[in-house]
Amino acid sequence: GLRVSFFIFTHILTCSTMASFSLVSAAARRLEGKVALITGGASGIGESTARIFSKHGAKVVIADIQDELGHSVCKELNPQSSSFVHCDVTKETEVENAVNHAVSKYGKLDIMFNNAGIAGAAKLNILDTTKAEFEQVVSVNLVGAFLGTKHAARVMIPARKGSIITTASTSSIIGGGATHGYTSSKHGVVGLMRNTAVELGQFGIRANCVSPYAIATPLLNDFLKQLDTNRISSVFSSLKDEVLRPEDVAEAALYLGSDESKYVSGHNLVIDGGFTIVNSSFCLFAQS
Ligand code: NAD
Repeated sequence: GLRVSFFIFTHILTCSTMASFSLVSAAARRLEGKVALITGGASGIGESTARIFSKHGAKVVIADIQDELGHSVCKELNPQSSSFVHCDVTKETEVENAVNHAVSKYGKLDIMFNNAGIAGAAKLNILDTTKAEFEQVVSVNLVGAFLGTKHAARVMIPARKGSIITTASTSSIIGGGATHGYTSSKHGVVGLMRNTAVELGQFGIRANCVSPYAIATPLLNDFLKQLDTNRISSVFSSLKDEVLRPEDVAEAALYLGSDESKYVSGHNLVIDGGFTIVNSSFCLFAQS
């Protein structure tokens, strides 16, 4: 009798330990069962987000114009739960196809991450900037986000849920940090996000932006190379000993994609260490 009750006791103990373990791991996987499409997912912020989303249990579709890189990122993620689709976000048929790919492969689309973007030619003066250069940046960064939002909405409205996240920038808030095309496009995506948050809220769809400060990705490195400067390292934020990394933006996207942010919509989540709230030309706090 003693033996049996000891067995029952240890069995219960084992089961409850296992149950709490699986509870913990399920709780730790914040996107379990969700399907995400990430444009610009082959590199930088998008790639990092693909890794973190996948770690949290999401099925991930990477959409990018860098096919080889995109495929190799997918290979490193769980091949059963990730796939690559070639997609130039300036082409509506390709964006439409990427969204359809996610739905046909994984059954739905819960999270759309409009993240693809370019810095464009590093011409700072408006007189040097050609119309074509301006339009190219707006076409990828703003029109691309519009097409992503539109086609995500197409499948999210019938599902009555979804989270649309767009990568803006600190250049969505302040001037002087980038070219005219870039600053315009990033201000533009915030407007697009706000409008869609208002329109699509009735369908349970949320729309938000993430706005990082400078991160050493190929986009920024190429831009600075063109300017022949590394000035960015000398630009300060209020957070000294931290360096902004793609993972920090991915963590913000994880929050906005998860149900933990279920009442957050129309928000531009700035990830800049306080950079955009300080005016260095008038600051009472001494930099030590
Ligand atoms: P990145 O160059 O590492 O990644 C951008 C990805 O977008 C690349 O894989 C590229 O192939 C893809 N892409 C470019 N044009 C595309 C198109 N037409 N269609 C589909 N994919 C396309 O750069 P990143 O820094 O990770 O940039 C991601 C986003 O973050 C961009 O929207 C960028 O504007 C924004 N951002 C970057 C910084 C920074 O300092 N790096 C700061 C603020 C915002």
